[in-house]
Amino acid sequence: MMNLFSMTKKELQDFLVAQGMKKFRADQIFHYIYKQSVFSWDDMVLLPQKDRDILKEVLPISMPEVVSRLDAPDGRTVKLLLRLEDGQTVETVLMMHDYGNSICVSSQVGCAVNCAFCASAKNGFVRNLSAGEMVTQLLAFRQHVTTDLHSIVIMGTGEPLLNYDNVIAFMKLIHEKDTFYLGYRNMTLSTSGIVPKMYQLAKEGMPITLAVSLHAPNDALRRRIMPITDKYPLDAVLTAAHHYFEETGRKVTFEYILIKNLTCTHACAKELARLFSGKNILINAIPINDNYDVGLYRPDDKSISEFVTYLQRHGVPVTLRREMGSKIQAACGQLRIKRENI
Ligand code: SAH
Repeated sequence: MMNLFSMTKKELQDFLVAQGMKKFRADQIFHYIYKQSVFSWDDMVLLPQKDRDILKEVLPISMPEVVSRLDAPDGRTVKLLLRLEDGQTVETVLMMHDYGNSICVSSQVGCAVNCAFCASAKNGFVRNLSAGEMVTQLLAFRQHVTTDLHSIVIMGTGEPLLNYDNVIAFMKLIHEKDTFYLGYRNMTLSTSGIVPKMYQLAKEGMPITLAVSLHAPNDALRRRIMPITDKYPLDAVLTAAHHYFEETGRKVTFEYILIKNLTCTHACAKELARLFSGKNILINAIPINDNYDVGLYRPDDKSISEFVTYLQRHGVPVTLRREMGSKIQAACGQLRIKRENI
């Protein structure tokens, strides 16, 4: 069965014409969905009744149900848990930054990559999300919270480069004028470092920002928290990231999780400086969200600021990420696990 939310306007036009309907109905349908948050054929009153009756049969609309909503006490982070058509659930987070609203999109149900610090893979990989299921994460916020959207980050549950085709289709779709009209420069894709797909992405001609989850400055340490390092060693990941920059002109961000006595040490800061001093990249340091039991903890504020200061002094561009969601289990997968008891 086709999914309306996965379709470009052109695809919908072709679909409607094949059903004997008028091409311009696609404009009306897109307007209902993307401008007015109308998600039922019955409520699309500008469409002829006979068209609606057919569409109900051949193209049922399945907007996910909001299973739970969590608002952070500061009012700037909202997390939704959505139930998909097959009963699976996904998380999606809205962050209200000073520069605008950003949505953190999930790309898979569960995750196969299994990083030690991340809740998303706790119960393994379930399935890929379709492009439309990613689109409905944005639509859910538009319907329930706000229509303002500045940017998206594909940093929710899942490894987007292991769901490559759907993720690319999703970004192309929300870039279209009749949907969200979001610039590629306002989209960020975060990957644990799936090297061949990083090369493929560089060729797409979509100037999105690539974020790479680095998390450790050498293979030995990285392997302990990111088993994917065995398949794609650090060297290969860094080379692929550099290639992405050369090919697209887009500066690559490296995410670096700060874990007490493990990655937030003086030795790690030194190694990072050796790797990145004076380079045209950005390190995004993220204190770990440690409110679940894996034995990895957030460093104290003093260690965090020493780490960041060391990098700054040694010419490494670094920012410290605000932990917007920590009060509401906004780190990947935490809400789904709590709610579904998995
Ligand atoms: N699979 C992709 C995208 C999803 S994870 C990737 O690995 O990049 C996106 C980011 O979530 C990771 O870089 C990591 O920084 C962050 N993350 C996951 N678990 C976290 C935790 N417990 N605390 C803080 N950040 C976490």
